Amino acid sequence: MKVAFFGAEGKVGRALVPVLERAGHQVRGIEIGEEPDVAGLDATVDFTTPDAAPANARAALEQGVSCVIGTTGWDPQPLDALARDRGLRVFVAPNFSLGAVLMMRFAQQAAQYFPRAEVIELHSETKKDAPSGTARATADLIGGDPVIHSVRLPGLVAHQEVLFGGPGQLLSIRHDTTARESFADGVLLALVKLPELPPGLTVGLDALL
Ligand code: NAP
Repeated sequence: MKVAFFGAEGKVGRALVPVLERAGHQVRGIEIGEEPDVAGLDATVDFTTPDAAPANARAALEQGVSCVIGTTGWDPQPLDALARDRGLRVFVAPNFSLGAVLMMRFAQQAAQYFPRAEVIELHSETKKDAPSGTARATADLIGGDPVIHSVRLPGLVAHQEVLFGGPGQLLSIRHDTTARESFADGVLLALVKLPELPPGLTVGLDALL
C-alpha cells in the first residue's frame, strides 16, 4: 500500500517506518509544518500529538484517504460522521501491541471475580498525555471507575499493571513493551483490514482480531 506516515521522525515513527517498508508498503513521512498532501494514497498512519492528529485525519478524509491512528489523548468520535459521509474508514487503537490487548482482555475477565482493581501505567517521561489511552480503555473494560496511577520516568517505554484485590489475595496482570517495534504487528494488521471495516470510526485492535 502507499501510506503517508504522520510523525515518521518521532519515537514510534522511527521504529515503525522501516518495518512497514520491509513488509512491502511504500511510506512517505510527513512532518510538522509540511502540507498534509495525501491525495491518491491508500491510507495514512498517525503517531503524532493529540493536537495534531485530528487535523491530520480531517485533511486525509477530505482528500479521500482512510486513516490508521495510534496517537492517544484526544476524542476521535467527531471524525465518525465525516468518514461515513465519504465512505472512508478511521481506525484508532489506544494500543497496537498484541500483548497489551490480551492484557486488557484478561483484566476484563478478572474484573468479574474481584471486587476492587487499580491500574498502574508507566511510560517514558516524554509522553504528553496522562493517564494513557490504554489505561483509560482498560478502566472502561473493567468498569467501576478504578483509580489509575500514571508514572513518567526516563528508562520506561510503555508498561501497565492491573492489580485486583480480594479478601486474602491479589492478582496482578502486567504487560511490558520493551521496544516500540511491538506496535508494528498491530499497525500492519490494521492496514490490511482497513478496506474490510465498515465506513466510519472503529476503535481498538480487538475489533480486528
Ligand atoms: P514523539 O516522539 O513525540 O513523536 C511525535 C512526532 O510527531 C514528532 O516527530 C513530532 O514532530 C511529530 N508531529 C507533531 N505534530 C505533527 C503534525 N502535525 N504532522 C506531522 N508530524 C507531527 O511521540 P511518540 O512516542 O512517537 O508517540 C506519538 C503518539 O503515539 C503519542 O500520542 C503516543 O501516546 C502515541 N502512541 C500510541 C501507541 C499505540 O499503540 N496506540 C504506542 C505508542 C505511542 P516534532 O518533534 O517536530 O514536534
